[in-house]
Amino acid sequence: MGGKEKVVAAFYPLAFAAQEIGGERVEVENLTPAGAEPHDLEISPRDVRDVREADLVLLLGHGFQPELEKAAGNGDKVLALLDTPSLNRFPNGDPHVWLDPQRYLLIVRQIGSALREKGSTQSLVTRIRALDRDYRSGLAHCARREIVTSHEAFAYLSQRYGLRQVAITGLTPEAEPAPRDLQHVIELVRKTHATTIFFETLVSPRLADTVARETGAKTAVLNPIEGLTPAQAPTAEARQLFCAWHSGSSSRLGARRSSSGRPRRDSAGVPESGISRNGPNSESTRR
Ligand SMILES: [Zn+2]
Repeated sequence: MGGKEKVVAAFYPLAFAAQEIGGERVEVENLTPAGAEPHDLEISPRDVRDVREADLVLLLGHGFQPELEKAAGNGDKVLALLDTPSLNRFPNGDPHVWLDPQRYLLIVRQIGSALREKGSTQSLVTRIRALDRDYRSGLAHCARREIVTSHEAFAYLSQRYGLRQVAITGLTPEAEPAPRDLQHVIELVRKTHATTIFFETLVSPRLADTVARETGAKTAVLNPIEGLTPAQAPTAEARQLFCAWHSGSSSRLGARRSSSGRPRRDSAGVPESGISRNGPNSESTRR
């Protein structure tokens, strides 16, 4: 008694929220190791023990991580966040709700009430609202609405901001496309004149490289914020990465920074993204 509340979180976005909200009061363990991606996470006997001993277990549920879900069971201390009311999930079972700030905000509130912390929950909600505004204003006038992504993680984000996701692989990173499907992606990229193929830090860029080579587009990172790299994990700043990633992503997708109150100029004249505001310039970067 009197020690810190032990929270076990299935992967980074849930661990981040628990740490931000619980602060010094909680000890948060992220079950997805650095360098791993969380889909179908394999857990160790030690993880099973930690889950049993935890005061609160945060997971997504609905088969995102079957081994963990089996170990956790469905007792009072287990919070399955895909069951959060009003999440409006897609019928295809897409788990990537945390990439839409407005849906993530509902998840944050659930975690906040499980931790019985009103004030810190509200400050995190305020930061997420700011990200939502950045995306909204920055993506309002794009030359193109298509984003070419590695795995199919950005459907909720795309729906929220009127983008159209063209994914190279399926809902999980291992779902490799058939040659015919890959050809279809390449044709779509050519048709939409997208200039950037996005890849991820935790998944091999091989397929993204192939599409880029075939179409003359360049590649850039668009992180689905599913896990940390080994370099990020031990640093204190890892705690802040969630919002930083979202800010980074919004600018990679063509959003302007809203802090200065005036539009940001792309001084280099080379757009960062396949849906940059600078349509004609984008053309000229294609080989
Ligand atoms: Zn994913």
